[in-house]
Amino acid sequence: VKRRILICGGGNGAHCLSALAASRENLDVNVLTLFQDEAERWTKLLEDNDLKISVTYNDGTESEILSKPSIITKDPAKAVEGVDIVFLVVPAFAHAQYFTTITPYLQPNTLIIGLPGQAGFEFQCRSMLGKKASTCTIASLESLPWACRILEFGKHVQILGFKESLGMSFLTGSECNLSFPVVETVQEVLGEKPHIQVIENYIAVNLMAKSIIHPPLLYGKWGDWDGTPVPEKPLFYQGIDEIQAELLSKVSDEVLATAKELAKLRNGCDMSEVIHIFDWYKIYYKDQVADKSSLMMAMRTNKAYDGLVHPMTPTEDGKFVPDFNYRYTSEDVPFGLVVMKGIAEIAGVETPTIDKIIAWAQTKLDKEYIVGSKLTGKDIASARAPQSYGLHTIDELFNM
Ligand code: NAD
Repeated sequence: VKRRILICGGGNGAHCLSALAASRENLDVNVLTLFQDEAERWTKLLEDNDLKISVTYNDGTESEILSKPSIITKDPAKAVEGVDIVFLVVPAFAHAQYFTTITPYLQPNTLIIGLPGQAGFEFQCRSMLGKKASTCTIASLESLPWACRILEFGKHVQILGFKESLGMSFLTGSECNLSFPVVETVQEVLGEKPHIQVIENYIAVNLMAKSIIHPPLLYGKWGDWDGTPVPEKPLFYQGIDEIQAELLSKVSDEVLATAKELAKLRNGCDMSEVIHIFDWYKIYYKDQVADKSSLMMAMRTNKAYDGLVHPMTPTEDGKFVPDFNYRYTSEDVPFGLVVMKGIAEIAGVETPTIDKIIAWAQTKLDKEYIVGSKLTGKDIASARAPQSYGLHTIDELFNM
């Protein structure tokens, strides 16, 4: 039997998943992209061609995959028809738009997957699906399975590497009876790599979101900046100094303290997946990091970060100023740090470093999420903390 799946999005990840999934014999693939005229353009480009993925496997071998989705559309009714798995493969700020658009057409017993979910995915999905949420299962993968980029829109995408393993958590709605096993089915869609690792507790995935990295590094670098343009774009990760590393480490400590407190409050619920960012670097980038003597050195000597610079805007005289609206802040604060702060607040854990960084970043974003040490700012509804959706207690957090 053929299964029909829906992929939402039209960027790097959506291109990859569309071609990969469509190349599997037992899958029929629909694509929904709401952004500008992407659906129309992409459909035209594939009229007489297949979508091509140039793949570089981790052992260095290369191959090409050619296939194409059945339909690419902007019309949610067409896109969702007959579908029992929906993948959202867009940056976190675009999730809300897809939830709104697909909800009227969702059938009971649908699996909805954030690929990646990013922090707060489950809170937002539950809230926006309304009554339908309890008939669905909501899953979140911790990252994209591949490092990938579009070479030619609609036609050609490149996979530069596969993750070895990828964590996934899922919440089964109280009235949801899927006709298929979650993990095996998602694994079949993705293929052999990465190996999906089930994380029992969705809060652990939220606390381990990598959106904790960028804001402390930005604050450490630009928190005291006097506004003078700089002659070059500074290295983002490999230029990290002791102050920045200390800030990141403290943010990670606060997240870890939150996980420990939750485990205590919930009778030892499993939070073992939540580890310190330095430990994560040592495990995750074990072959790329040359010097593992400290968090600062691990980041400075991480080959995966070669040449990556701060997001900067050029000035008229050829210098640069930081771009505080890049996704390192515009995504990683409302869909990252604010979510973790919200979970910590519910756990009753103080987070002075996270608070300080959110307070700084929100002025740059012209938003107000935090007031003092509480998430009571006027713009909290536009972030994805539990509090953004009226969740305030441990029970509410755990009985999602
Ligand atoms: P992307 O930057 O390619 O996404 C762009 C797409 O998002 C657009 O084509 C459009 O379909 C949609 N979009 C953009 N602006 C929009 C708007 N204003 N409204 C609605 N839709 C809009 O994203 P990606 O590279 O596919 O990454 C998806 C997610 O995976 C991101 O969260 C990213 O951080 C994460 N990620 C990506 C990679 C990678 O190698 N590309 C690796 C790890 C994690």
